[in-house]
Amino acid sequence: MAVFDDLVGQEQAVAVLARAAAAAREVVEGGRGAGMTHAWLFTGPPGAGREEAARAFAAALLCPDGGCGHCDQCHQVFIGSHPDLESVRPEGLSYSVKQTRELILRAAGAPTQGRWRVILFEDADRATESAANALLKAIEEPPPRTVWLLCAPAPDDMMITIRSRCRVVNLVTPAPKAVAHVLATRDSVPPDIARFAARAAQGHISRARALALDEGVRRRREAVLSIPRSLTGVGECVSAAERLVKTSEEEAAAATAALNENETAELRKLYGEGSTGKGLNRGLVRGGAGALKELEDRQKSRATRIKRDSLDAALLELVSFYRDVLAMQFGAGVELANDDLRFDLDQLAKASTPEETLRRVDAIMRCRERLAANVNPQMAVEAMMLSLRP
Ligand SMILES: [Zn+2]
Repeated sequence: MAVFDDLVGQEQAVAVLARAAAAAREVVEGGRGAGMTHAWLFTGPPGAGREEAARAFAAALLCPDGGCGHCDQCHQVFIGSHPDLESVRPEGLSYSVKQTRELILRAAGAPTQGRWRVILFEDADRATESAANALLKAIEEPPPRTVWLLCAPAPDDMMITIRSRCRVVNLVTPAPKAVAHVLATRDSVPPDIARFAARAAQGHISRARALALDEGVRRRREAVLSIPRSLTGVGECVSAAERLVKTSEEEAAAATAALNENETAELRKLYGEGSTGKGLNRGLVRGGAGALKELEDRQKSRATRIKRDSLDAALLELVSFYRDVLAMQFGAGVELANDDLRFDLDQLAKASTPEETLRRVDAIMRCRERLAANVNPQMAVEAMMLSLRP
């Protein structure tokens, strides 16, 4: 089905989901639907596309054609306005039991469109222990038409009692070759740029697409990866920290603006503004203002989150740089993520020891942890830069 097309390199997961979607359809049509499961756990490393897979599955459940990718139902799922899909993304570091209880109440409602009530819970591992216990009760005895889609980095991140009641869909990091192929065929990216972007993004498809198509994203990557060679003294470390925080804020602002604009345009189109009016009714038009307000609220809280994620992405970029240095120091014949910076990598590999490189990777990981714990970004990044200095 079309909604699964973007899940690059996830053939196994897609096969499972497509079968389940077919079973779900049977249930809706009054059949037995053997193999339909009410609780799912999507796992996989960052960038593997847990949320994307869960959302595609939601579309497959809610679309009358099993996930055609272009009908109103599919559209609403992808812009986040489908009345039977509730997306939960913890904004803070944890998700409380109170929030969970409210969510469970909403989840128990009957689907308004007669198919399923789908709850997509991103970062479900952030549920507190008591929240997880409440969740467990809800997924143990689900209402007949409720489907839970939980996402977490690894099955171990969820309580075993929850995990054992979910069907686990494990997503893998797609090979750079598969990502490059998609960019070249579907996005018409020239093959050499597609290969560069896929390698640099390390299997993260949306990141690879942004690198391939957006000059600004490429420039920001270069700025981040020029940091290691600039750290010659304390003053340089402080200004590098400033630059990094600022660069990621800019990246976040650009990403937020692009997302908001698309969604708002989609929503307006859906509610009839500037469209041919195909498939519209008066009720839909009336609902437009409320939906737009709701969308704006969601966009605002997302902006905060994107800012934090974007700094984290820059730090992971630095990790990939030092990992390349380490690979060179060990003479491992692996493909380098930052092959375009071979000269810088080689210089640092010769000027330092593998132990020093590992210490630097540790410093970056520590900085990520501190940021996740809400330490002031400038302070945390400055401390990291000082540890990266030769
Ligand atoms: Zn559809």
